Amino acid sequence: NEELLINSEKLYVAGQLAAGIAHEIRNPLTSLKGFLQLIESGRKEATYYSIMNSELDRIGDIVSELLMLSKPQVYDLSYHDVRQVMKDSVTLLEAQAILQNITIEADFGRDILWVYGVENQIKQVFINVIKNAMEAMTDGGAIRVRLGRENDSVRVRISDEGPGIAKDQLAKMGQPFYTTKEKGTGLGLMVSYKIVDNHEGKIDVSSQLGQGTTFEIRFPFRYPDVPKDAERKEREASGAS
Ligand code: ADP
Ligand code: MG
Repeated sequence: NEELLINSEKLYVAGQLAAGIAHEIRNPLTSLKGFLQLIESGRKEATYYSIMNSELDRIGDIVSELLMLSKPQVYDLSYHDVRQVMKDSVTLLEAQAILQNITIEADFGRDILWVYGVENQIKQVFINVIKNAMEAMTDGGAIRVRLGRENDSVRVRISDEGPGIAKDQLAKMGQPFYTTKEKGTGLGLMVSYKIVDNHEGKIDVSSQLGQGTTFEIRFPFRYPDVPKDAERKEREASGAS
């Protein structure tokens, strides 16, 4: 009955999460309904449409972050050089960084950093953490990204020059819907923790008020299992499952 207990805990957590999601989606839905009624009654103001637009965006943001929690398909699993995944993530954020007067300085090291997992999910973690760093640095500055190998781990450090995080807030990070931002979903870190956990990795956060914050993400280093991988590709190509 150990297992039963674990299952009921899981159900409890799922129930809490579902309640949170329902709440977070109902708010923008209620406001959408309200504005629709106003428009129906003949009042058509430009601000209504822009509010409705941002409420719809909000629902979209919540849904796309939650989608990341869905179970990856077996065929998504593969070996990746995390340096390349990070390069792609940084490229995606570069334009926004320039607009915010932020430079992203990356040191990718010299070794190939093999990780076994789902590329899109790993990318999502990097994007979430770097985006948070960018959002914290309202006056611009530098984000430093450093990748390297440490024993059997691949280590990714992302440091910002933002305001830092107070101790009591540090404990809340990763809780669903915990956000200090007006337009935040409070889901980015929860999803990131979950993804890293699914990859048998871990995330550590250290922060100094007034100095900045460093996220350290670790994944197990896993050298590609070449024969097996080739075999799998062959199986896929022949259409067998
Ligand atoms: P969101 O970004 O939608 O608020 P997240 O789960 O990504 O949700 O982050 C939760 C909260 O953690 C943020 O609202 C912010 O208060 C805090 N946080 C995360 N990263 C940083 C950072 N680099 N610097 C300061 N605060 C951060
Ligand atoms: Mg975020």
